Amino acid sequence: MKITLSAIKADIGAIGGHTCPSLELLQKVKDHVRSKSKGLLIDHYIGFSGDDIHIIMTHTLGIDNKRIHQLAWDAFSEGTKIAKDQGLYGAGQDLLKDAFSGNVRGMGPGVAEIELEERPSEVFCIFAADKTEPGAFNFPLWRMFVDARSNTGLLINEQLASGVTFRIMDVIEGKLADLKMWEDKPELEAALMYPGRYVVHSVVSSDGEVIVSASTDRLHNIAGTYVGKDDPIAIVRTQKNFPATEEAGSAFNNPHFVAGNTRGSHHMPLMPVKLNSAASLNYAIPIVSCLVFSMHNGKLTGPHDGFGTADWDLQRMWAAERAMVIRNQGFIHPATLVPEELEYNKGYEARMAKLNKKFKDIDSNNSS
Ligand SMILES: [Mg+2]
Repeated sequence: MKITLSAIKADIGAIGGHTCPSLELLQKVKDHVRSKSKGLLIDHYIGFSGDDIHIIMTHTLGIDNKRIHQLAWDAFSEGTKIAKDQGLYGAGQDLLKDAFSGNVRGMGPGVAEIELEERPSEVFCIFAADKTEPGAFNFPLWRMFVDARSNTGLLINEQLASGVTFRIMDVIEGKLADLKMWEDKPELEAALMYPGRYVVHSVVSSDGEVIVSASTDRLHNIAGTYVGKDDPIAIVRTQKNFPATEEAGSAFNNPHFVAGNTRGSHHMPLMPVKLNSAASLNYAIPIVSCLVFSMHNGKLTGPHDGFGTADWDLQRMWAAERAMVIRNQGFIHPATLVPEELEYNKGYEARMAKLNKKFKDIDSNNSS
């Protein structure tokens, strides 16, 4: 039997800013999904990472299924009513369209989905990030599938050694490219180099199994203006011929700098956090949580908290230190994003428009 994993997330409001959803909001989303799940879902789990609520669902209807996407859309819409009632900040902010049109892709919520033939022991991780962008997963996914220093399995597992195929999305042009390891490694790395433009969409094994699916939506491409960062979610299948669960988790053990943070305008390290963590008030350091599941006949066991063990406190400390180092540089690039990224922000555009009016041509008399 083929099972589909669907992970759909959205920010529909948070307490006092961009922190975390209220208990009532979360409960409303849970109640809605539970009430509509009969005959549709095999199982589900709902949690949050910062201000983003994720709905993890298992079913047999395949990817991009209208009923599944509608269920998530309706749950977020119902939750938005509570968010508005409570005056939560950014109520409904990721629901960019007025009416559901058959698929939540391109409507604001982030989607990662895999249809799979269940292995006897099917295991996977969900990585759910906040205060960052889809390209935040470029470096960890490279570490998992390309970097033998990070993953010895690339040497000693025959399937991994034979190389995966990365599907990369150009999020500006809306195009996809398949890059096969190992022959296309330099081109893959050239793409991953600029996470603001080229984003890992999925990873497929050499025998055609989808190992990774990640959300790739860029909200400003939908809304035409800055409406918050496009906090990504990714499904990574692990064990046997895929990376070990700890090889997938360890790819996040060296908090790398990502775009995001306050006003979506800064580079800051990606801090691994415990499940259902609020965003930090220390300039909203980008965060990622790791939900570890086992699955059998579509029934979920978990999540185990992948970044919940004591040792991850060290990585949290590193991330907090790195955040201070770069944030002390204030607004001076590279602490802030490149102009093209900031230009989605109307405030920056307005500053530049005023600035540009003050620039005059250099005439021959004072050019020296
Ligand atoms: Mg968010």
